[in-house]
Amino acid sequence: MNIQDYKDLYVFIEHEENKIHEASLELLGEARRLKEDRPSLNYQVVAVLLGEVSEDLLSELAARGADETVYLHHKKLNEYSTLQYTHLLHQMIEARKPDIFLIPATVLGRDLAPRLAARCDTGLTADATKLEFDPENPDSSLLYVTRPAFGGNLFGTIINETKRPQMTTIRPGVMDKMQRNPALTGKVSMQDVSLDGLKDPVSILEVLKKDHMAVDIAKADILISGGRGVGDRFDLLRECADMIGAEVAGSRAAVDEGRIEKDYQVGQTGKTVKPKVYIACGISGAVQHLAGMEKSDYIIAINKDPDAPIFQVANIGLVGNALEILPLLTKEIRNYRE
Ligand code: FAD
Repeated sequence: MNIQDYKDLYVFIEHEENKIHEASLELLGEARRLKEDRPSLNYQVVAVLLGEVSEDLLSELAARGADETVYLHHKKLNEYSTLQYTHLLHQMIEARKPDIFLIPATVLGRDLAPRLAARCDTGLTADATKLEFDPENPDSSLLYVTRPAFGGNLFGTIINETKRPQMTTIRPGVMDKMQRNPALTGKVSMQDVSLDGLKDPVSILEVLKKDHMAVDIAKADILISGGRGVGDRFDLLRECADMIGAEVAGSRAAVDEGRIEKDYQVGQTGKTVKPKVYIACGISGAVQHLAGMEKSDYIIAINKDPDAPIFQVANIGLVGNALEILPLLTKEIRNYRE
């Protein structure tokens, strides 16, 4: 393997029902940032998409930062298959030699990335939260990939000096999407692919959607999140949330106690969220919780313990009983609106 032959920043595009997954848009934004961070490399941002999508979706990829889209076209690929995706992406990697290949750490990405890395005989850094080029050498494309370890108490930075592509999965909700720029146009390199001889022993018979997945807390602008301190009074959070168009989430303790479902858990083993406003009620602020919300634009914390660690990341801290403060807050908002 001659590392010098490998170039550009590739991003795997996950899509469903002709919509790009938010996590892939975030990776396009991050790839763009990396490209601009190191202009001497003269790298392109290349989106890689399998399936069949509309022209609009392809234009959207360009508007969101892709200089080029490698479009491996076959209608059947709209349905994910580990075997087919691994095979086709491996072929693409052999032919085009990407230096960096970013995959969202979604359910699909976590299934695909380890297989693909093994097939390409390269390393994989999973669940990364930070990427930067070698800070010591301004011309290097060596990627420093940081990820939490030991329950979020330590961060490890991993480099891959000897194999290519430098492959990594990135936690959704951590990177910033690029502001949409419709003036940007990207090249589309479409290839009709054949699935002959790629019969997958796994067949998907039916895809059932869970009703409650209609709300994705990672996309909410305002979140009111409850912890153990709220006990069984999540109704107070919901009442307040209804007044301001917020969604309700919770800490792992609240999930473990059955106050709210796991899909709404914020934190290291839940979702990473970055809303405009995050209101933490009766949440202590353990590192594993902070890992999922500390990048929120504005944090309001209500806790009766003035020394609770959540106050260290809060923009506004209210020391008091959340069960008393929340109804007052809801009442004030209602009065203000009327
Ligand atoms: P507690 O820590 O019990 O805090 C309750 C808080 O409520 C206290 O600060 C208390 O002062 C306050 N309080 C009590 N009554 C009131 C009241 N009436 N009004 C106001 N305040 C009140 N946690 C997550 O949240 N998300 C994760 O994804 C996650 N992943 C984890 C992964 C690993 C590997 C491990 C080891 C742990 C993980 N945890 C996670 C658990 C985490 O360490 C904490 O145990 C958890 O976040 C605590 O939840 P909590 O703040 O609701 O409860």
